[in-house]
Amino acid sequence: MNAPVVKGPFALGEALAAREQAALLRSRVATDGASGGRLKVAGREYLNFSANDYLGLADHPAIKAAFKEGIERYGAGAGASPLVTGYSRAHQQLEETLADWLGLEAVLLFNCGFSANQAVLKALLGKDHLLWQDRLNHASLQEMGSQLPCKMKRFGHNDMAALERQLEPNRGLIVSEGVFSMDGDQGPWRELAALAARSGNWLMIDDAHGLGVLGTEGRGTLAAQGVSPARVHIQMGTFGKALGVAGAFVGGSRELVEYLVNFARHYVYSTHMPAAQACAVSQSIELVRGAEESRARLARLIARFRQGAQALGWQLGASDTPIQPLLVGESGAALRLAERLRGRGVWVGAIRPPTVPVDTARLRITLSAAHRDEDIDRLLDALGSCPFVYSAGGTRDA
Ligand SMILES: *Cc1c(COP(=O)(O)O)cnc(C)c1O
Repeated sequence: MNAPVVKGPFALGEALAAREQAALLRSRVATDGASGGRLKVAGREYLNFSANDYLGLADHPAIKAAFKEGIERYGAGAGASPLVTGYSRAHQQLEETLADWLGLEAVLLFNCGFSANQAVLKALLGKDHLLWQDRLNHASLQEMGSQLPCKMKRFGHNDMAALERQLEPNRGLIVSEGVFSMDGDQGPWRELAALAARSGNWLMIDDAHGLGVLGTEGRGTLAAQGVSPARVHIQMGTFGKALGVAGAFVGGSRELVEYLVNFARHYVYSTHMPAAQACAVSQSIELVRGAEESRARLARLIARFRQGAQALGWQLGASDTPIQPLLVGESGAALRLAERLRGRGVWVGAIRPPTVPVDTARLRITLSAAHRDEDIDRLLDALGSCPFVYSAGGTRDA
């Protein structure tokens, strides 16, 4: 096809060129599948330190079998939105399983975490409400928050004094994350729950990265921090990370769920997730609840990595979760570092603005229970052979 002669109202080329100039252009790599902490790309096998499959469940035989059985029983697709005929016994069972696991009154399923977050904020917040968010909250929360008629205030990352100064009694919703996706540190949920209760505001947790990984039975960040789920009005979590499948849920009171069934447009006007997918997620939860050994292994791998990387002089974040950012600073340097690691058979993602704040480009290293001790040592060897070192003013070559 010929390129159009008339340029039109959108300066796509300029926008892309500007991104490229700033070493911020993104592109995709088509992989040939990942399993067992490994990734195949263009015929070569890499150690995979960039997935969110923290427990190695994405290719678990029992989950794949549950998916297949679900397809045999319910077909490939849900066929309709949930309020029409897309809601099946398999969906209902998954909701009940989640409620039982997490101590929630009721739960609602969404096709993905991005739409779940957007749906909740949009359905709840009117123009007289206030929304308070941690500065490092996920894009789905930030973006919807800034588009709504309500007033949005962002507080410094985990800065409870700043949040307390911003709060107004009985005005709206506080949203933060269990485990922050690019930093791996946890939100202070006891303090958040206390501030919400004292100010008469609602509280919502996005626990995409804590679910399955933290707490007894993998119940997540609240369980790990000893905060009762009753103190957090809305819990959101995803099935595409530690649970190894895809999709998301929002849970809370029966009244909240009934309200969302009626007012959440991303729920009402979207084809429901396949019933077979719900079957796979239910199977995954059963495995996750009993995966204490995998979680203990993961904790040992995290400690091994942190010790080794610090000994090499790399600057890590304050994270005790499988998300281990290695701070680089400048975007181009982060890209070159990721490239060198790939040359040594280690796949790690370079994370650049606008995903993270300017001058905080990093490698986002993620560990999985599927990794072996030797895999961590190979990662450390590869890092040891790389000459970039973080310094406060940016990156310098060592
Ligand atoms: C991944 C993620 C989401 C989005 O979930 P998807 O199911 O992938 O759309 C939302 N919030 C956080 C914190 C995430 O890391």
